[in-house]
Amino acid sequence: MDKIKIDNLRIFCNHGVYEEEKRNGQNFYVSAMLHIDTYPAGISDRLDKSVNYALLCREITDFMQKNRYNLIEAVANNLAAHILAYSELIRGIDLKISKPEAPIGLPFENISVEIHREWHTAYIAVGSNMGDSRAIITEAFDKLASNQAIRIIKKSSLIVTKPYGVVEQPDFLNGAVKLETYLEPEDLLDYLNLLEKEAGRTREIHWGPRTLDLDILLYDELIINSEKLTIPHIDMANRSFVLQPLCEIAPYAYNCRLMKTAAQMREELESRNER
Ligand code: ATP
Ligand code: CA
Ligand code: CA
Repeated sequence: MDKIKIDNLRIFCNHGVYEEEKRNGQNFYVSAMLHIDTYPAGISDRLDKSVNYALLCREITDFMQKNRYNLIEAVANNLAAHILAYSELIRGIDLKISKPEAPIGLPFENISVEIHREWHTAYIAVGSNMGDSRAIITEAFDKLASNQAIRIIKKSSLIVTKPYGVVEQPDFLNGAVKLETYLEPEDLLDYLNLLEKEAGRTREIHWGPRTLDLDILLYDELIINSEKLTIPHIDMANRSFVLQPLCEIAPYAYNCRLMKTAAQMREELESRNER
């Protein structure tokens, strides 16, 4: 990725833990390294193919002055999210917030925090076999799309499938979505769990009937093996109700644990089932 850099944009505003900081304000300095593909702007010499940094600097200034946070960590976190959502051209950001006039009563040159945030690609499997499944899934997709931290890139069709594991239950409606998010995997899972909860999901029997199930299939080419999270999804290669919708939107999606694409996993599952 190419980079566009803004160095030490000075903004007078009122973040801080102490009353005097909130009341009197002080100078903050914002430095941002934007990760952007500058090639389209480079070959066309057109501003609409790039990020207008004059406008972005104004946007940053407005954001810093309209919002109030206690901590520069919170300033950085929220400003990074705001900048990532500002333009689809911005794929990632290194952001530094400095506060050289912080009232700490000792001689010092600067205090700052530096963070990195970027858009990640994730594939989510969705399933439902209780209630009005189509409406429940549609509502979940709408909620995903309205979250600033998430962009839906592609949605599969929804297919009717036979239950897996526990077969004595109604048929399922299954699908898959490709999304981009700047949420970390655990935060994405928490958000998906919240959507499940809002759809009335309860967990009585494992693999039992559910109003909404949202599983993370893939997240970039990351491998995670934690108590809460296994990515790539551990059983995806054995589930045609996952691979069929996934192949519809992204046959090239890559499972780096198995070193196979969605299309390869599906082909192998089909030939195993035929045997
Ligand atoms: P399965 O995971 O086999 O499809 P399930 O979806 O019915 O079964 P749940 O009850 O929804 O299982 O989830 C059980 C736990 O799985 C969750 O609490 C979550 O922490 C964990 N989990 C691990 N990896 C993932 C993942 N990739 N996506 C979603 N949940 C995951
Ligand atoms: Ca599941
Ligand atoms: Ca699940």
